[in-house]
Amino acid sequence: MTGLAGGLEFDVLGAHAALAFFGTIEPARLSHGYLFSGPAGVGKKTFARRLAQSLLCETPKAGLLGYCNRCTGCTLFVAGTHPDFVESGGVVKIGKEAGSAIHDQELTARDLVRELSLHGYRSAHRVVLLGDVEFATHEAANALLKFFEEPPDGVVVILTTDALGTLLATIRSRFVEIAFGVLTNDEVTRFLERAGVPAKRARLAADASLGSISRAREVLEGDESGLRGAAFAWFAQAMAGREPDHGFLRLDDRSLAAGEKRALVAEMLEVVRIAARDWAVYALGGNDAPLLAPDQKKLLTTIPRREPGEIVALLAAVGAVAKLAQSNVSAGLVVDFLRMQLAPQQPSP
Ligand SMILES: [Zn+2]
Repeated sequence: MTGLAGGLEFDVLGAHAALAFFGTIEPARLSHGYLFSGPAGVGKKTFARRLAQSLLCETPKAGLLGYCNRCTGCTLFVAGTHPDFVESGGVVKIGKEAGSAIHDQELTARDLVRELSLHGYRSAHRVVLLGDVEFATHEAANALLKFFEEPPDGVVVILTTDALGTLLATIRSRFVEIAFGVLTNDEVTRFLERAGVPAKRARLAADASLGSISRAREVLEGDESGLRGAAFAWFAQAMAGREPDHGFLRLDDRSLAAGEKRALVAEMLEVVRIAARDWAVYALGGNDAPLLAPDQKKLLTTIPRREPGEIVALLAAVGAVAKLAQSNVSAGLVVDFLRMQLAPQQPSP
């Protein structure tokens, strides 16, 4: 969806549920909090930015979505200087000691209260986007809950997460949740082509992307030491009954917050689910079976064979581990449990 009536734009990929929701909602019925959930690299933050620009665009329009790219509001927004839009760049840790401004990505609960208490300065709206948010303390969570007791007019908070289960139920219940699914291969291809990637390479990367722009970029960069390649290799090792190195998940890295580690594990689980699915298809369907990640086929052929009953049980077990990862169980435990589920009953010699 790009061109809209009246020369307005709303340039996003996929995001079907969000488009349906914000495309039909009455502007007056906009709520104060939205929670965008879904895998990494499918456009949650991009949609949030386009929505923010739509709200801050000064060209009159019938619905909620759409911006002109010409008015002062749009000009300030595109330049990154609109006073009524604040965004965190990466993972936001709220509740740590350090940090005094939202742009430092480490907010204290007090910073959050201040950011949320301001009205729009030049616009009727003010949009606060907290990407991949993690509430490190109860104090921080309480700051957000307090905002919902008496939200200033026109202020909209958007949270994004790829680990829904790590957010407190009291926070989730204040937000309108909107799910983002993975992109289709065509959508990823179109995005890459627009970014200047030649058509053939774009198609190959899209086929291996598992519906995520960030993974497509990894494939393009040939970054097999990146998470996607490392997770496939880890899967093959675990399937052979070995204890593969999971250093790529940085579970022992003290500079990473628990939420960042969980996000890495969630990303790894996405890859392992695809690997397990592809391996099952290959094991049951043979050489011509269509794979989701055809570039990893050679690796799949190295995995020892199993009985059909074991294959089905394995797929169910991987799904169960993915559910476990959505809870507050530690990332390290999730990885160990996954490895045990994948290991063959009889360890290979
Ligand atoms: Zn505009």
